[in-house]
Amino acid sequence: MSFNTLGLSPELKQAIESKGYTDPSEIQQQAIPSILQGNDIMAGAQTGTGKTAAFALPILQRLQNDESKRRRVRTLVLVPTRELASQVGDSFRSYGKNLRFRTSTLYGGVSIKTQIDKLKKGVDIVVATPGRLLDHLDKRTLDLSELEVLVLDEADRMLDMGFIRDIKKIFKYLPKKKQNLLFSATFPKEIQALADSLLNSPKRIQVASSNSTADKVVQVIYPVDKSRKRELLTYCIKEEGWFQVLVFSRTKHGANKLASQLSKEGINADAFHGNKSQSQRTRALKDFKDSKTQVLVATDIAARGIDINLLPQVVNFDLPYVPEDYIHRIGRTARAGQEGKAVSLVSADEHKLLSDIERLLKKEIPREIIQGFEPTQNLRSEPPKPKPNNRGKGRPQGGFRGAGKGKPSRSKGPWHKKRPKKNSN
Ligand code: AMP
Repeated sequence: MSFNTLGLSPELKQAIESKGYTDPSEIQQQAIPSILQGNDIMAGAQTGTGKTAAFALPILQRLQNDESKRRRVRTLVLVPTRELASQVGDSFRSYGKNLRFRTSTLYGGVSIKTQIDKLKKGVDIVVATPGRLLDHLDKRTLDLSELEVLVLDEADRMLDMGFIRDIKKIFKYLPKKKQNLLFSATFPKEIQALADSLLNSPKRIQVASSNSTADKVVQVIYPVDKSRKRELLTYCIKEEGWFQVLVFSRTKHGANKLASQLSKEGINADAFHGNKSQSQRTRALKDFKDSKTQVLVATDIAARGIDINLLPQVVNFDLPYVPEDYIHRIGRTARAGQEGKAVSLVSADEHKLLSDIERLLKKEIPREIIQGFEPTQNLRSEPPKPKPNNRGKGRPQGGFRGAGKGKPSRSKGPWHKKRPKKNSN
């Protein structure tokens, strides 16, 4: 199928062509005609599938079909994070570059006054995070009474981030009759309930099973002792020449600490999380995109929706508590058909988290042990119990007597080797 058969205007097709897209992605093939017909949509699609264009193109087409001189907000896209708001806003501007519509992005952490000034001039499309949007609605600096299309993008993440109450408040400001499009990577019960209350006989679109991961992502587990994760990460970055590495850390503090430790080791690293100011986040992302920063250490929420083409390497420094987050994390690589690799550094205490993830994926992720970093505790087995008749209570199996914190003895590992061989576990 080509973009010619989807019913898009020459202006939109020209914009698509200038982006270099040749064929519509699966979600685009399914969603574009259906949205053009005016259907409500409930789509299961992860980031990286081309879902933004799947709703932005038909929405722009709808606006174009019914163009009027009077500017009013006709489309609202709700997204979970500032970064995603800015990316989705940019997408609308670039797909709509041959059209006369104005897009405004509204998110917190930046001056509301500038946003109000822009809104006063009139906009057709608003892309917003729920909190800041509500501020505008409460201040009456935004009128959504003539809204025609509502998009909830990454709905599951908005729920995870606790936006459900804000979203329900926002709904009260919207007209009943409108087209509703809901995009979500996963469909837990709460999303289903939201969909039932919002959508009108929706068309269900599913491009990859919500629990499956992008086919092109090569996933691998490096079992390693917790205390040696950072050392292994440094080793891989340096020895395996990893570049543009997005590393996930469960906490903001962990992200800061890891980024500064990596920097001390001579690796250009930066942290990216919600405690950073908007300008720090924008700069960190820009430096990473421009390849000035080699490693970006991010928390789940901050990294959500980051769109970086050709991101080759994602590392889970620790596994997420919520198994679905694993899918979101590895969705950062292998975007739009590119190949990518997702490496998880997993220590024995994360065994349960790993089994939950594998149950969700319905497959086992291959293990590779990096020589010199052999774990003292096996991932698949319970932590070793003290041997009977052994006076050294609680000592790890393999008996690294006195090495402390399960650290293997140097003499055991081939530390002198330039590039270690990998063994399958
Ligand atoms: P998304 O899933 O919307 O975050 O899109 C992921 C990436 O795919 C973005 O960088 C888009 O620019 C790109 N993309 C979207 N549609 C296509 C397409 N039909 N062909 C190639 N790349 C695309």
